[in-house]
Amino acid sequence: MSKLLQDVVGELSKLPGVGRRTALRLAIHILRMERDSVAEMTASIDRFRNEVKYCSQCNNLSDEEVCPICADRERDHATICVVEQVADVLSVENTRQYRGMYHVLGGVISPMQGISPSDLKIDLLCDRIARGGVKEVIIAISTSVEGETTLFYLMNRLRQFPGLKVTSIARGIGFGDELEYVDELTITHALLNRREIDPA
Ligand SMILES: [Zn+2]
Repeated sequence: MSKLLQDVVGELSKLPGVGRRTALRLAIHILRMERDSVAEMTASIDRFRNEVKYCSQCNNLSDEEVCPICADRERDHATICVVEQVADVLSVENTRQYRGMYHVLGGVISPMQGISPSDLKIDLLCDRIARGGVKEVIIAISTSVEGETTLFYLMNRLRQFPGLKVTSIARGIGFGDELEYVDELTITHALLNRREIDPA
């Protein structure tokens, strides 16, 4: 096999969900593309990796210091939906039912994977709430053991804000593990049926 082909297959198969067979198919496809299109593609990946920022308020991906959602004055700044990943913001946005803010934690607490609360943007969330104006925090993270641990930890941290309503999206109604893979109708339903978490 061509060394050049081997290299590109090796690089492409570093991507999640791309095995060597798929990587080979993609490589052959790239070979059939216009040179300009390939250059555009690689330049775009490069720009994305080097230039994209994290929003200083919500930790969502952003081209600017503050993302378009946080900068949108028409949206409800009193409600923050806490999610694990950037992809979850897109999932909820796709429902077109939610007009509040987001907060991207950047993962869930996982002692197994060495992810502790300090690795997540929890302090940033608390700072945001401490500045005032936030009435409700909706926790929309996965129902995995790690998700539950994170939910419990967040509840404890948020208890310092008296009067803050903390809700969780409806769980156990066929809501899958990863928000990313759940369809829009289910997310909408889960958001509408969110429940206040008892400060036990
Ligand atoms: Zn933002």
